[in-house]
Amino acid sequence: MKNVKAEIIAVGTELLLGQIANTNAQWLSERLALYGINVYNHTVVGDNLQRVEDAFSNAHHRSDIVIVTGGLGPTEDDLTREAFQRISKLDIIEHPPSMKKIETFFEKQNSVMTPNNRKQARVFKGARVLDNTVGMAPGMIVTYENTTWIFLPGVPREMKQLVKNDVFPYLQKLTGNEEIIKSTVLKFIGIGESALEHELSDIIHNQSNPTIAPLAQDEGVVIRLTAKERSKEKVDDLLENMKQQILAKVGSHFYGFDDEKLENQVISLLEEQHKRIAAAESLTGGMFTDKLISVEGASSVCRGGIVCYDTKVKQDVLNVSNEVVQDKGVVSAECALEMADNVRRKLDASIGISFTGVAGPGEVEGNPVGTVYIAICQNTGEQLVEKFAFQGTRNSVRRRATLKGLEILFKYLK
Ligand code: ATP
Ligand code: MG
Repeated sequence: MKNVKAEIIAVGTELLLGQIANTNAQWLSERLALYGINVYNHTVVGDNLQRVEDAFSNAHHRSDIVIVTGGLGPTEDDLTREAFQRISKLDIIEHPPSMKKIETFFEKQNSVMTPNNRKQARVFKGARVLDNTVGMAPGMIVTYENTTWIFLPGVPREMKQLVKNDVFPYLQKLTGNEEIIKSTVLKFIGIGESALEHELSDIIHNQSNPTIAPLAQDEGVVIRLTAKERSKEKVDDLLENMKQQILAKVGSHFYGFDDEKLENQVISLLEEQHKRIAAAESLTGGMFTDKLISVEGASSVCRGGIVCYDTKVKQDVLNVSNEVVQDKGVVSAECALEMADNVRRKLDASIGISFTGVAGPGEVEGNPVGTVYIAICQNTGEQLVEKFAFQGTRNSVRRRATLKGLEILFKYLK
């Protein structure tokens, strides 16, 4: 494989002003490394013709591959084409399929196309034009004086789509790298990043292919596995084998692959077990029910929820007893259990789940901020209640409680 020098130029004043982070360069670099392409420079340049031209000129003299993101749109400040034309002197022509697409878009929207929109269909003569299936401006690959220039839209979603569909296959040919690269993500809940790394320390220590990258996210910990091989079958075998090794150690915390979400798994389990759920939500204010209902097919298992934020609502609507409210308080295991059991009965569900606690900023009944009780009651009489102490601001306590509810329910059903 040839040793190629690549660099990335992000065009946009909003990047320089710190209004957005240059996630495009980060995403591209991470993936170029997998293809064995060395990235030597990241440049960010504002929407200024002279400065963009200077940045391009520097890149042209030192790199084999230059990837440019941004500045291909219709507005005055989109200067990428003009700047590259100044150094390459290449003609810019209209690309009829892209023009047609833009016209069709405006016709469908029933809106008038302003003339500047034509600009987005303009490409360098001789360029390979990359079809943008999620936006207007196409990407381009142009080879000029031994440097390969790749122009991509700034919008991350559009950029990624073009890179996956067109740019990587192109670069693989260019560099003579025939390996197939595939990643998969394993998702875990109820285990912290350090505990997970500890459990898997042998595997992580001896990794080579696939590579193993644990990452803490809002919704638990994930592990990204990336394998390279000459055939699709071999890549799949490598990934499968590694998955088995990992799941043998920490499988009890595993809940899904790639885009799978905890709420989807919960709904599937409820479906399999023919159970119907209802929620009584105090501090979560409906967030838990919202998560469940976001899943397609929730209607067959989710009865609904009652937001019982105020004590009076807990009593009047959910029939939480006076004794519990007075003797134990609304932030108590007893209150959580009554809420869960009563919402289950009221909404004719087989499982009731409840959330009561202190979101903050002030304490409630002597309970510190972050104290949360979550209870589950089944029509079989089975019940459980757990107490938690979450850290953080009001809304992070609410989010954590919601996520914990999904976790408890997932483990309970599994
Ligand atoms: P458009 O047709 O939308 O104008 P464009 O190719 O001209 O696309 P820009 O105008 O530079 O691209 O950027 C569009 C949006 O994409 C920006 O407002 C920003 O939110 C996002 N964006 C641009 N560059 C980056 C980057 N390097 N990293 C992350 N996001 C970016
Ligand atoms: Mg733009």
